[in-house]
Amino acid sequence: MDLIPEFLKDTFNRHYGDNLARILAGLSMTRPVTLRVNTLKISSEQAKSALIKMGFKIKPVGFYADAFIIENAKESELQKTELYLRGEIYLQSLSSMLPPLLLEPKSGENILDMTAAPGGKTCEISVLSGGESLITACERDKIRFDRLKYNVQKQGVPRVNLLCTDALKLDDFLRFDKILLDAPCSGSGTLSPDVPVKISPKLVSNCVVLQKNLLKKALKLLKKGGMLVYSTCSILKEENENVLDAVLSQSGGELMPIDKNRFTCVPELDGMAETVTVCPDELFEGFFLALIKKIK
Ligand code: SAM
Repeated sequence: MDLIPEFLKDTFNRHYGDNLARILAGLSMTRPVTLRVNTLKISSEQAKSALIKMGFKIKPVGFYADAFIIENAKESELQKTELYLRGEIYLQSLSSMLPPLLLEPKSGENILDMTAAPGGKTCEISVLSGGESLITACERDKIRFDRLKYNVQKQGVPRVNLLCTDALKLDDFLRFDKILLDAPCSGSGTLSPDVPVKISPKLVSNCVVLQKNLLKKALKLLKKGGMLVYSTCSILKEENENVLDAVLSQSGGELMPIDKNRFTCVPELDGMAETVTVCPDELFEGFFLALIKKIK
């Protein structure tokens, strides 16, 4: 993959040394379509048999019983199905299914999805709580907000308060049981041979400033004892571990170890012990996950 800028290759090399070739190979792979069943509307068994009847070849996903890998079709073919048109399935990358699973949303919990569009994870949070969590989904970009609203409505997700606003301006008196901060990032884990790479050192440093501010704000809005998931689709340590290092101790957050037994099929890169850095490969995009508890 020659399109990756030299500065990025150098950074991957600095961070991951021996794994550079593995990362570059992973980024150049075309991944199969993956989807999550919207169990608010249909059971996994019903969706599975409908897909098989239509001729789709299906594989299960080790860490998520309601998700499938489609081995023999493009997104556009899935998008023509009644299942898709009725919002009974949602096309979503495997890596991006991980943060809501880590958040473990429960019935009655008051949850903030801080940077939410286009809304795959907002809908997943609701689905995982059986439609019983109270979600505030915030997005500052109007066009992306409209997409979020469309997806939430199409998936029939209940109890969601949609806010088209800058999350940094949310009232400091608000308090949430749990927060997902799926932060805006350089996207260094999701580069693909078909799309020109737009990452520059300036873009990365701008993202880092925003990520730190959003994480500080998230910790303000979280109840004491509450849980926060910080995730990015970047594998640059500047946007991940370094952001945590800069913010957590001074903002009352503490890293909680992630139970990796739940995610044994997820390919990992070396990183901070409590966190997970997903290595891009033939199934997964590059991704980063941290579970944080507010201790004071
Ligand atoms: N969680 C989303 C999903 O799974 O569909 C993807 C979120 S995307 C990685 C980050 C989003 O954050 C973008 O839509 C971006 O417009 C939004 N964003 C960036 N800065 C923001 C801010 N200060 N307040 C609210 N949203 C913001």
